[in-house]
Amino acid sequence: MKRVYSAADLIDAQLLADALNEARIATHLLNAHAIGAQGDLPFASTYPEVWIRNERDGARAASIVREHERRPLLAGSARCAHCAESSPGNFALCWQCGHALDAPAGAHDAAQAQR
Ligand SMILES: [Zn+2]
Repeated sequence: MKRVYSAADLIDAQLLADALNEARIATHLLNAHAIGAQGDLPFASTYPEVWIRNERDGARAASIVREHERRPLLAGSARCAHCAESSPGNFALCWQCGHALDAPAGAHDAAQAQR
């Protein structure tokens, strides 16, 4: 196990883990479920971390991490109609529950106004 990335949030961590998994690099997210349950631990320790299972994947993982960090942050987000979690605007499916995100960025505000 080797830590390759410390993410700003869980979506960021999941995006990188997905990219690594696509490259057939086995990953493990640490702290992924600690948010909200961390008690009196310092806040920084709850940042999700992406680890790789096999250190021999380290070089490939490092280049994927670099690509991930270069990628511009996409504006906008889509709110899942099923679980209300926010996903990046370029996602087709909710990162949390897999529900289809057919609403473009900003549309969830209009949807909420109709309630
Ligand atoms: Zn969802």
